[in-house]
Amino acid sequence: MRFTFKHGVHPAGYKDISKDHSLEEFPTPSSVSIPLSQHIGAPAASVVAVGDEVRVGTLIGKAASFVSANVYSSVSGKVTAIGKKRTAIGSYCDHIVIENDGRYEEVFLPEISDTDAAAIKSRVAEAGIVGMGGATFPTHVKLSPRTPVDVLIINAAECEPYITCDYRLCLEHPEEIFSGVRYMMTALGVSVAYIGVEDNKPDAVAALSAVAPEDIKVISLRTKYPQGAEKQLIYSITRRVVPEGKLPSDVGCVVDNVHTAFSIYEAVKLNKPSYRRAMTVSGAECERPGNFWVRNGVTYADIAAYVGVKDTTVKVISGGPMMGFAQADLLPSTGKGTSSLLFLGDDEVSDGDKPISACINCASCASHCPMRLMPMFIERAVEDEDALKAKKLHALSCLECGCCAFVCPAGRPLVQSMRRAKKLIKEKGV
Ligand code: SF4
Ligand code: SF4
Repeated sequence: MRFTFKHGVHPAGYKDISKDHSLEEFPTPSSVSIPLSQHIGAPAASVVAVGDEVRVGTLIGKAASFVSANVYSSVSGKVTAIGKKRTAIGSYCDHIVIENDGRYEEVFLPEISDTDAAAIKSRVAEAGIVGMGGATFPTHVKLSPRTPVDVLIINAAECEPYITCDYRLCLEHPEEIFSGVRYMMTALGVSVAYIGVEDNKPDAVAALSAVAPEDIKVISLRTKYPQGAEKQLIYSITRRVVPEGKLPSDVGCVVDNVHTAFSIYEAVKLNKPSYRRAMTVSGAECERPGNFWVRNGVTYADIAAYVGVKDTTVKVISGGPMMGFAQADLLPSTGKGTSSLLFLGDDEVSDGDKPISACINCASCASHCPMRLMPMFIERAVEDEDALKAKKLHALSCLECGCCAFVCPAGRPLVQSMRRAKKLIKEKGV
């Protein structure tokens, strides 16, 4: 059996730029600015005031509802300001600014004596762990599915070009990853788990396989984008199809990122809350690319200053080039979902910046769409403001993966059209 899905694309990988750089500690600057919304759901509510002393691991933002996540200080020092700032995705939320005293005094979570399902779920919620592949969905919610599940799938596909931090985690911390996966299996009550890695990373497959327990299978997935998308990963490994409008748990699966498993290990075994993450800094314009442990709240400007960025940079992307967000400036700060920061030159973006011309009805977008949508028709429905038609064309199933825009010879901004279609359907209530 080939572990793959139908359609998708094969973008250039650009992983060689950073893949051989081991994870190293990023030198945290003298001040961090930590967003209170680093997750899907309600922003955390600040529980500190200007002038408060904090340590690494002090709770500074409390989860405001079930679908929310605690936020912890990543440094020790003093809170100097609390105010709104733009995030990498363009929205605004409160940030807690902390002057870093450079001592990194720690106050971690209390030890837990039990590691049964309830205790693990409670620790995951307490530690503020979210999906660290970029989706940032609170993990304690995922570990509490509404319907019984029998399979856990760990996503180590890392199918976006450039990004190699999960690859480094697999090479450098396989035992810790399996320990985290075991805790997740206990929390979910499942006896089968898979870790999916694309076959362009055979050394990561080998490193994981060398220490894999019998009931956790390491799967070498065919390299294709978007192999790491939940529905595609579930299909590739189990051949189960998640119906439109349904969740992975509706077909008995939970999917979570490999970094999330690692963070669960840290929270349960080492009592560490989520305040830092592995991150790739890459791109042809980056003078010292690499993989770093970056504490939450470091500004992109601080990262650029450390790695050295050439004047010829034409685009900065937070996340991968297919699904990430282009940045207007370097003011945003890192958070739990910041898997990468890319500094790209003209050669790297020229394909994506091709001039826009009229659709030539080639159907290339439809034949590459992993959800089998017809992006060209959805785009026309959006232009006509026809929400009903957009809905009938299943626009709500769009993953916003970017395959359609990637292959479109006319350079149509199809992902933007898909986003507009979803917004239109919501606004018109169809
Ligand atoms: S329509 Fe959506 S799911 Fe299909 S290729 Fe485009 S972005 Fe991806
Ligand atoms: S790929 Fe572009 S040009 Fe071809 S049908 Fe789709 S939108 Fe039209």
